[in-house]
Amino acid sequence: VLRVEGLHKHYGPLHVLRGIDLTVRRGEAVVILGASGSGKSTLLRCLNFLEMPGAGRIHLEGRLVGREARDGRIRYPNRELSALRMRVGMVFQQFNLFPHMTAERNVMIGPMKLRGLSEAEARRVAAANLEKVGILEKARSYPAQLSGGQQQRVAIARALAMEPSMMLFDEVTSALDPELVGEVLLAMRQLREDGMTMLIVTHELGFAYNVADRVVFMEHGVIHEEGTPQQVLLNPQRPRTRDFLRSHT
Ligand code: ATP
Ligand code: MG
Repeated sequence: VLRVEGLHKHYGPLHVLRGIDLTVRRGEAVVILGASGSGKSTLLRCLNFLEMPGAGRIHLEGRLVGREARDGRIRYPNRELSALRMRVGMVFQQFNLFPHMTAERNVMIGPMKLRGLSEAEARRVAAANLEKVGILEKARSYPAQLSGGQQQRVAIARALAMEPSMMLFDEVTSALDPELVGEVLLAMRQLREDGMTMLIVTHELGFAYNVADRVVFMEHGVIHEEGTPQQVLLNPQRPRTRDFLRSHT
C-alpha cells in the first residue's frame, strides 16, 4: 500500500529525516519505535502531508505521489493533497474532537463535507465505525461526557469514516490514564484483524510484540533496525536498539 524511498526532511538547518526507506504492505501492521526526537512524528506527518516531505519518493497504492519535475524533485500540487489526506487516515495523541458536536456528529462531518455523503448516509457510516471501535452506545454523547479512552476511539472512528486505505497512529495512548490504554489498543487490534493497513508509533512494547507484523526502530532520522517483533524486541542486533529497549522495559 505504501512505499517510501529515500525520504528526507529538514527544518531549517535541522536534518530530521535522513533517508527513510519503508514499505507497508496491504493488511500489514508496522510499529515504529524510537527515542524522543528520532523523527517518528515527522515521518508520519510527511506521509499524511501535514508536512511537505523534502527529497525522496512516496508511493501510495502503487502510484508515485506528486509530480516529478525535470530536475528530479517531486512537487505536490495542492488539489492532489486533499485527496491524499483522505486516503491516509491519522490519529494523534491529542484527540482534537469538536467539543460542541456529539460523537456521532464528529464522525459524520468529514464524510459529509469531504466525501459528499448525505446526512443519512453519513449517519450510517458513523454508526458502522463507532460500532467497530466498540462505542456505538455513546453516539449521542459530547466529548466532555466521554473518558479519554472513549474520545480516542471516537477519533479513530472519525478517521475510519473517510475510508482510508491505511491508518497512521502517533502515540495514541500516551495521553491516556493507564486504565484506559487497553480499550484503545483493543480497538486497534480489532482493526488489524479486520485487515486494515496500519503504521503505528507507540511505546507499548507488549502491543508491538503481539500485534505488529514488523517492528522498525528509528534513530536520528534513519531506520536503524527492522524485523519481526521477535527479532527486534527479543533479539535486537544493534546496541542502540538494545539501549532503547532496556530503558523502556
Ligand atoms: P517524540 O517521541 O518525543 O514524539 P519524535 O520521534 O516524534 O519524538 P519528532 O517530533 O519527529 O520526534 O521530532 C524530530 C526532530 O524534529 C526534533 O528534534 C524536533 O525538535 C524537530 N521538529 C519537529 N517538528 C518541528 C517543527 N515544526 N519545526 C522545527 N523543528 C521540528
Ligand atoms: Mg512524536
